[in-house]
Amino acid sequence: MGGPEIDRLIGMLARLPGLGPRSARRAALALLRQPESRLLPLAQVMEQAARAVRTCSTCGNLDTSDPCALCSDLARDRGLICVVETVGDLWALERAAVHRGLYQVLGGTLSALGGIGPDDLNTGSLFARIAQGEVREVILALGATVDGATTTHWLSEGLAKTGVAISRVGHGVPMGGALDVLDDGTLAAALAARRPA
Ligand SMILES: [Zn+2]
Repeated sequence: MGGPEIDRLIGMLARLPGLGPRSARRAALALLRQPESRLLPLAQVMEQAARAVRTCSTCGNLDTSDPCALCSDLARDRGLICVVETVGDLWALERAAVHRGLYQVLGGTLSALGGIGPDDLNTGSLFARIAQGEVREVILALGATVDGATTTHWLSEGLAKTGVAISRVGHGVPMGGALDVLDDGTLAAALAARRPA
């Protein structure tokens, strides 16, 4: 279509999760319609983020420091860990300011179809933290999907051996990457309505 630069941009965008060739073309066009004064700073910010952002080795959050700002915040309740599927879920809970403890981001759920097994989930640092003895309760805030439920069940079994209290958020709440669409009140209610798993 256009020059090789445009093709390359479309090709890179098409590799992003959730963007097929068609939406990649649309996104490329939307970007290229921007004046240079807006596009170049965007490219710069993306480069800076790519260089600076890392995954917190304690909880799996994204931040420019490791451990992340949340894990380093001594004002937070270190005895309470909320397990979520994605960083997006963590952001939603933080925006709603409904959880004052720490997090564990699994990076997904067990999925037979998706070929995701226990080893693919970020749980090692959760058990390591529990082994250190600071954790008193783990809240499982995973999706109400089949995979979410399977993961909740599997994690509860593993956690039961550690002796920490295990709870799960109220059923019917579309957690798991979908926390984003919930309003703060619903999120607060879901967390308050947690019950032993
Ligand atoms: Zn962290």
